[in-house]
Amino acid sequence: MEIKYVTTTCPYCGTGCSFNLVVKDGKIIDAQPSQRSPVNEGKLCPKGVYGFEFINSPDRLTTPLIKKDGKQVPATWDEALAVIAENFGKYKPEEIAVISSARCCNEDNYAMQKFARVVLKTPNVDHCARLCHAPTVAGLNMVFGSGASTNSFMDLANCSLAFIIGSNNFEAHPLAARRIMQAKKKGAKVIVCDPRLTPTAKQADLHIQHYPGTDIQLLNCLMKNIIENDWVDHEFVDNRTNGYEELKACVTQDKYSLENTSKVCGVPVEKLQLALQWLRENQHKTAFVHCLGITQHTVGVDNVRSIAFIQTLLGNIGKPGCGVNALRGQNNVQGSCDMGALPNVYAGYLSVTNPEAAKKVADYWGVTDLPSGKLGLHIPEMLETFEHEPEKLKCLYLLGENPVMSDPNSKGVEKAMENIEFFVVQDIFETETTKYADVVLPGSCYAEEDGTQTNAERRVQRFRKAQDAPGEAKLDWEIMKMIAAKMGYADKFAWETSEDVFNEMRKITPQYAGITYAKLEGDGIQWPCPTEDHPGTPILHITSFAGMPDGKAKLQAIEHRAPAEVIDEEYPFWLTTGATIWHWPSGSMTRRCAQLDRDCPTAWLEMNKKDAEKLGIADGEKVLLSSRRGEVAVAARVMDDIKEGVFFMPFHFIEARANLVTNTAYDPVSRTPEYKVCAVKVTKQEA
Ligand code: SF4
Repeated sequence: MEIKYVTTTCPYCGTGCSFNLVVKDGKIIDAQPSQRSPVNEGKLCPKGVYGFEFINSPDRLTTPLIKKDGKQVPATWDEALAVIAENFGKYKPEEIAVISSARCCNEDNYAMQKFARVVLKTPNVDHCARLCHAPTVAGLNMVFGSGASTNSFMDLANCSLAFIIGSNNFEAHPLAARRIMQAKKKGAKVIVCDPRLTPTAKQADLHIQHYPGTDIQLLNCLMKNIIENDWVDHEFVDNRTNGYEELKACVTQDKYSLENTSKVCGVPVEKLQLALQWLRENQHKTAFVHCLGITQHTVGVDNVRSIAFIQTLLGNIGKPGCGVNALRGQNNVQGSCDMGALPNVYAGYLSVTNPEAAKKVADYWGVTDLPSGKLGLHIPEMLETFEHEPEKLKCLYLLGENPVMSDPNSKGVEKAMENIEFFVVQDIFETETTKYADVVLPGSCYAEEDGTQTNAERRVQRFRKAQDAPGEAKLDWEIMKMIAAKMGYADKFAWETSEDVFNEMRKITPQYAGITYAKLEGDGIQWPCPTEDHPGTPILHITSFAGMPDGKAKLQAIEHRAPAEVIDEEYPFWLTTGATIWHWPSGSMTRRCAQLDRDCPTAWLEMNKKDAEKLGIADGEKVLLSSRRGEVAVAARVMDDIKEGVFFMPFHFIEARANLVTNTAYDPVSRTPEYKVCAVKVTKQEA
């Protein structure tokens, strides 16, 4: 009997905890803490402790499947590659779309976007950051010239005020939340802005329970008072920003007064005043923390920019214990963006519309026909086109995602999937989406590959192989290499190891240029790391905003705007959706972990006691939740912890899909759907 311990990083949230996989006779049997990790210091949340159980599930895909006579049947790799190469070769580049995956490592994402651009020659490549933190990337990039979080998790423990907005980090990012609690133990105050009294909000010194979709009103009100009380850090603003007067003219309007904001947001004036007092008392020691409660809105980009503005006005950027700290959703959302699995940038955020950048990439890859000059389709546009104009978009290559579960308006997504003429899915399990595929390819999970991922604080860390992939499953980048070779591009994908992929990537990705696998044997490196002797960068923007043309942050006027769908007589309640501590988005991995599924076996709908009373609904009763898009049956959970007029539903459960009712309206800049607000009604279900 051989037992070994393999140190790797977690495949769930963007915190990026390390742990040791315990391997017995070649099979993973346990996960144990890695005390050395600077991210989690040996602690893990339930997903870290029990989330390995899916790896050896009997449900794993072990062989390619090809649809024959309407049924998916096992096939050899040669058969699958032949079908794929023949069909991919039939379509024009603009008829093909590629969706990559933030569940997968940097190497897979780099390979996928290169495959899309070099082999399929399509600009239509995107990944699931679109559904979560694309507004953070776009918003912070517009203000600071870099779309990444500014500070480190360790640094959160140094703040004296944590201002948390749109983040239930006790459930979604528990080991990042631990750093905030470390600050609290040292005397820091914690403010949580959330329509629900979440486990995070229960730890707060001040809970601002505002209505969904009123964040800009709230933030503009705070900025109005900061400016009118002259608490602005004028030295910082004068020397390091543009646009102050424009921002000031906007936020100082009467409509952003404490009294009007109290009405719009449903928050007592005294709470707003206390938040302001604490922002003043903790200037230069305040960290803002946000997550999907801010980004998944039609104003997601503007929400993020407003957070960046308030921190800029107070001079809370480029300093320890400060900054804008985005808690990235999926494990490798940061890395997948860095790798260029996006329709607007190549790896290293080189713009596809910048001819010099495109030439640099084309020369490096040795191609002359790189798609450039115009943006590719984003995921919501891909799905809309498949659904409504299938004659324009015909073919999809999808890696490690489950849009039928994870994208809004599931019925529309199912229609889109049905309309795809040729559909290849590469995944580790059959999912609600794979059933629509013409070819299903068995990929690998984090424990079966060497690779890297990049957490929410820009820390690049290793995945390490602990066991072989099951059956004939292969590494994801190896599969792309095989398809590329079949289509005549073997020389462009001549990698033998994951490290080869990484080394090719880092030569064209300035932020990663100095990072090597050897350097990652330590505690990971936070980019930017421009040279091999550079130690990495824990805090961004210390002396200038290097990504802005003049090195200065850009302040602008942003007005509060209502959500795309507002409540009315027919649909009189707000619905907001989110994650639980036990499961991860579509549940395809965590619901195959016995312990996690036992602890949290199904969905529920949270509603305030007063709403339940009005509707005549008792705790635990089955109700029908409906919106303009669909309906879902679910058990009611009646409580005081949620604001009156607002319902909450978790989104991990196929038997009660929250996304049957969510809205497809999306942010015009980031194209991120408005999962966090839609109008719904609830009726009691007949027994
Ligand atoms: Fe994994 Fe996130 Fe839990 Fe850490 S906090 S163990 S990264 S799910």
